[in-house]
Amino acid sequence: MAIRQIVRYGNPVLRNESKPVEKIDDKVKQLVQDMFDTLRDAKGLGLSAPQVGVNLRVFIVDLTQVDFDAEPLVMINPEIIEKKGEVIGEEGCLSFPGLYFDVPRGEQVVVEYQDLEGNRKRIRAYGLTARAVQHENDHLDGVLFIDYLSAAQRDLFAGKLKKIKVG
Ligand SMILES: [Zn+2]
Repeated sequence: MAIRQIVRYGNPVLRNESKPVEKIDDKVKQLVQDMFDTLRDAKGLGLSAPQVGVNLRVFIVDLTQVDFDAEPLVMINPEIIEKKGEVIGEEGCLSFPGLYFDVPRGEQVVVEYQDLEGNRKRIRAYGLTARAVQHENDHLDGVLFIDYLSAAQRDLFAGKLKKIKVG
């Protein structure tokens, strides 16, 4: 069990474009295991590699906290190939402790990715899974959920963001 430190808003690693995983070796497998330990410790629903300071295209989604039957997902080199509908829902982000607000997302998405064994997979995700996949996938492109704030909301949260920000 290894809990890594979660990078906070203000750290430039969160704004980098992450690189594809070339080979799913022991280092990548260890990263994923540590990400699950870190996510469970933080009681979050999703975590991307950049949030533990690694600019690789990997994220995990684990909704077992809110849905006992949920299957934890590991997505390596993911690509959202289809997005349908729009739904607004509240989101938080472990890199922004204490900040929650409504974000519009696709209601369902089709995502292609590799699993930990390197198998190519394609799933259609709905509801909270779809939301989490879009949020985490954004992290791999250096996009953060605050980028969806309107100018007015941004003013509203300015003080809070300043407190969260490091560096
Ligand atoms: Zn996030």
